[in-house]
Amino acid sequence: MKYIAPIIRILFLALFVFLLIKGNIFIWLALFGVSLLVAVVFGRLYCGYVCPMNTLMIPVEWLGKKLRIQTAATPKWLKGGYFTWISLGVSIAAMIVGKRMFHMNIPVLPIWLALSVLLTLRYKPEVFHNLVCPFGALQKVFGRFAFFSKKVDPDTCIGCKLCEKVCPSGAIAVSPDSKKAVITTALCHQCTRCTDVCPKASIRYRKARTTGN
Ligand code: SF4
Ligand code: SF4
Repeated sequence: MKYIAPIIRILFLALFVFLLIKGNIFIWLALFGVSLLVAVVFGRLYCGYVCPMNTLMIPVEWLGKKLRIQTAATPKWLKGGYFTWISLGVSIAAMIVGKRMFHMNIPVLPIWLALSVLLTLRYKPEVFHNLVCPFGALQKVFGRFAFFSKKVDPDTCIGCKLCEKVCPSGAIAVSPDSKKAVITTALCHQCTRCTDVCPKASIRYRKARTTGN
């Protein structure tokens, strides 16, 4: 999976670029709609493997760290967590107004793609994923009910926090009380980063609680 995941991401990125060039971006939006239903059963696979923003943010995160321009801080005005909904509202309004009043398709997706890259150069990826992305707002709502998700086995977890350090969406944290890692299903992209680093192989994809963690 370590090598398959990047290939899947690149293939979906290529599909996204192809649809963009062909002017068929509404097909991508339909794919996103289907992914919300998928999230209810299998978790936020769209965010982890399909989303072009996430795919570009992975190397950009690396670049931001290399250039030492990335900060661990989160902008204060984003902390309330409401901005994702404002992003979603503005995006939908822009598409409707553009189509009805100006008879044009506002390039909402490419605009968010550019913003995700710029923000990730400066801030940790979880800032865009959890506090800015309009698509993430919806994925969070549907993903929290995921029937299957990455889960931590508390019997083998040693609380080393390695998983916490690599998670791109702040979905996993070691509880100060139990000293065991816990995954918040609503935020989890079902990627492989935590499983790749866990020294105890404590994290597996399995049946999750139906109401999220
Ligand atoms: S990396 Fe594994 S052992 Fe370490 S805290 Fe995370 S789940 Fe527990
Ligand atoms: S908890 Fe693990 S699988 Fe979920 S987003 Fe974080 S690193 Fe990926």
